[in-house]
Amino acid sequence: MNSPREKLALHGGPKTIRTPFKRYNPLGAEEVAAAKAVVESGVLSQFLGRWGEDFYGGPKVREFEQACARYFGVKRAITVNSWTSGLIAAVGALGIEPGDEIIVSPWTMCASATAILHWNAIPVFADIEPETFCLDPRSVEACITPHTKAIMAVDICGHSADLDALRAIADRHGLKIISDTAQAPGALYKGRYAGTLADIGGYSLNYHKHIHTGEGGILVTNDEELAERLCLIRNHAEAVVADKGVTDLTNMIGHNFRLGEIECAIGIEQLKKLKPLVATRQHAAARLTAGLATLPGLRLPVTKPDCTHVYYMYQMILDIARLGVPKAQIFAALKAEGVEGLGITFANIHLLPVFQKKQAYGRHGFPWSSDICKREVSYQKGICPVAEGLQDETYLGFQTCLHTMHDDEVDLMIAAFHKVWGQLDTLRA
Ligand SMILES: *Cc1c(COP(=O)(O)O)cnc(C)c1O
Repeated sequence: MNSPREKLALHGGPKTIRTPFKRYNPLGAEEVAAAKAVVESGVLSQFLGRWGEDFYGGPKVREFEQACARYFGVKRAITVNSWTSGLIAAVGALGIEPGDEIIVSPWTMCASATAILHWNAIPVFADIEPETFCLDPRSVEACITPHTKAIMAVDICGHSADLDALRAIADRHGLKIISDTAQAPGALYKGRYAGTLADIGGYSLNYHKHIHTGEGGILVTNDEELAERLCLIRNHAEAVVADKGVTDLTNMIGHNFRLGEIECAIGIEQLKKLKPLVATRQHAAARLTAGLATLPGLRLPVTKPDCTHVYYMYQMILDIARLGVPKAQIFAALKAEGVEGLGITFANIHLLPVFQKKQAYGRHGFPWSSDICKREVSYQKGICPVAEGLQDETYLGFQTCLHTMHDDEVDLMIAAFHKVWGQLDTLRA
């Protein structure tokens, strides 16, 4: 460890962390063997875009889906080629109409909101809870209008949104719930897996998530009818509806959101490792928490009672008033010490150009400029003070799924924080 008296790296002193952290890699010999077997079988996909048995894909697709349904304790699991595709399919399957409003968190990855726009529905941003950064149920309720049809809950950073509170609101107002659980596979909410308490939920299998297949996603639902609609949207609905005997054509626009056999074979092996992989993130987070707990003006991640946190992000809050240093300075100092995977910005999706300029489809402001949009929806700065405050002043996040986070690396990170905190006065100048 560096002695606290050593000059900060930002000011020309020695770096605390001199070798780059090792990259997180959840793949092993099992995935190699599984992928090889699929290649040797010659069947990389077995989907057919017409009605028949192969409408649901080949053997690995179905095996992976059954394994996911068993694992997460849901009736149906449906694979898709990305979780972005999964979110689009979910909004479509719920029968959302152009101009319908869906309430969504601003503190997320853009796909949570753009999946809504995809169907010409209108995202309405509610604010987040300061503890978990997930949708604040009180703010959600305040955003409801006669046009609201659904809530897009996001289990951000690895912690579930307050699904019981959101469900109570949804029931009072006749709304559906979608759960974007991309960052929280395996997290528990009152004994059940995050993602499974919504009407439709699911997980990303992109390469920077806890488990992955390169690209991919899994939808989960306990509603057989919704599951069939998801399967239709996934696989060229319009080409098969006649033979399948589908009578409700709402949002039955054909897409190709199908995931391949190799990815599903890898996914089967990854799913078996989800628990131990999540445990490695939780172990690293617990070590960080023990090491950073004494630092003043730094709030560490919060886990609510009856929940578990799977730490896709280790999210910290800076008490800037107490520290007397702008977060950009603290960030620069930590980065100079060699701390990787650290971020000061996440997102306030409503502040992205697509919402600020209200221009999605074409040049003329569609869908907001059209009469399908029934009222003026505001995306002005100020509508989500908690989320905006995080970005502007207080948020400091560490992405735990980027690096192996072995104990020695975690200890170096802790040392870097202590070194910077020991010399905050030099950053105040
Ligand atoms: C990663 C992520 C997505 C998108 O998942 P992809 O599989 O990359 O399309 C959506 N929402 C959240 C919160 C995410 O973290």
